[in-house]
Amino acid sequence: MLAVVLQPGNQIALREVPEPRIQGPDEILIQVTTAAICGSDLHAKQGLTPGLKPGVIMGHEFVGRVVEVGQAVIRFRPGDRVAAPASVWCGCCPSCRRGQVQYCERGGIWGGGEIFGSGLQGAQTALVRAPFADACLCAIPDEVPDEQAVFVGDVLSTGYHAARQGNIRTGDVVAVLGCGPIGLAAVISAGLFGPRRVLALDALDNRLELARAYGAVPLDVRQGDASELIRQATNGLGADVVIEAIGNPNTFLQCLRAVRRGGTVSVVGIFPSKVEFPLGRMSAYGLNLSMGLGALKHMDRLMALLASGSLDLSPLVTHVFGLEQALEAYELFEDHKDQCLKVLLKP
Ligand SMILES: [Zn+2]
Ligand SMILES: [Zn+2]
Repeated sequence: MLAVVLQPGNQIALREVPEPRIQGPDEILIQVTTAAICGSDLHAKQGLTPGLKPGVIMGHEFVGRVVEVGQAVIRFRPGDRVAAPASVWCGCCPSCRRGQVQYCERGGIWGGGEIFGSGLQGAQTALVRAPFADACLCAIPDEVPDEQAVFVGDVLSTGYHAARQGNIRTGDVVAVLGCGPIGLAAVISAGLFGPRRVLALDALDNRLELARAYGAVPLDVRQGDASELIRQATNGLGADVVIEAIGNPNTFLQCLRAVRRGGTVSVVGIFPSKVEFPLGRMSAYGLNLSMGLGALKHMDRLMALLASGSLDLSPLVTHVFGLEQALEAYELFEDHKDQCLKVLLKP
């Protein structure tokens, strides 16, 4: 089968790879119907993900159809549509039992390295072997198309987590720095917690327009420093909750300057480089800092919101390619060409 495979020298290539087989009774085999390219795939391609070795199949955002189930699997049957979380979990270890399934001690990201993985291959291919199927896969209702369901396991879970861990209270002003797919998912999710205003900051017109369509006040960072724009929009006070959805060290510092005294900075960007951490300032102003990977235990609820029609993520999909055009798709995504926001691959 054809797959997008990480190559030496920070390259990717389309390669023929062996088809996976079920290896345990709790596993299923999934035929991938839609996979997405994520910003962290670019980190991997650019050599910024520690421990990642060439030869691994790329991709951790996908949905598909069950083709085979292990003997112990009870929730799924061949033909069922399923959405995968970005990272699998076992359901039994101490992290899982605390409900922090994204930190499962036996889990790992699809196509992850030694730090983030447990030998799982990625999903930008035709077939994927999925362990812990009953614990961590999410059934897709008929009314949710692939183009929406594919966001539940990472983009929407992470955006929702950004809003939730920010402890947004009714009437708060929330600022989201970065209106890529995760930032827009954070804008949408912030709205679920009753803020009086969501400020959305970016430097690209199409992203700002989409943020406006999702009910946010767009602020163009080409017209000034992000923290200044947020202060101007809040009578100098700063926002109650500021969400960092980029993974940029400079943006993190802007978040600290943009949040009100005693407010919360919620970080969900993945930082591939070192970050300055001004603890003195944070302590003096009583700032709260929340961070972490997307809370994947909410997948079923988020899928239910999509099924009800109260959330619509389809505007995030700007491009769809066949798997054989994956290199072209990566180039488009990497360079933000053609107003690209999210690229889907159809194996
Ligand atoms: Zn992702
Ligand atoms: Zn676990």
